[in-house]
Amino acid sequence: MQSVTELLAHALAIETEAGERYAELAAQMQAHNNEEVAALFRRLAVIEGKHAEHIRARAGALALPALPPWEYRWRDPEAPETAEFDRIDYLTSAHEALLVAKHNEQRAVEFFDGIARNAPDPQVRTMAAELADDERGHVRLVSDWLARHPQIERDDPDPPVSQD
Ligand code: ZN
Repeated sequence: MQSVTELLAHALAIETEAGERYAELAAQMQAHNNEEVAALFRRLAVIEGKHAEHIRARAGALALPALPPWEYRWRDPEAPETAEFDRIDYLTSAHEALLVAKHNEQRAVEFFDGIARNAPDPQVRTMAAELADDERGHVRLVSDWLARHPQIERDDPDPPVSQD
């Protein structure tokens, strides 16, 4: 990762992908009448969408390079690391949906952390560290919700008590 432009191109791709997947997950949870989790995913879709806008604003007049999609597509935690994510339409439990979200947020953290550690340009390292922190915030948010939805709801005879 050599330049701020290259970093911004990757960040934009990651945020855009995440925003789209969260919108899909929200629709999916809505279809399964899980309004609570649908609302969380809608919130995350908005957060990632704003992130993408912010990155576009930061890029300004810089022409961001196009990236091959396999570099940043969401992946299914149960599939081999090279497989793209294509299972959202079949997810029915909030727990599963949240696990997928957490997995992909963690991938984003690792991606930006790696750049923050290894990029030769200090400006790139600083920006990557900020982006990694943002993604860590998303991991925390999703983890909190996972704790509230520890397993498939309809099979759970003793649902957890909400913490708020
Ligand atoms: Zn994120």
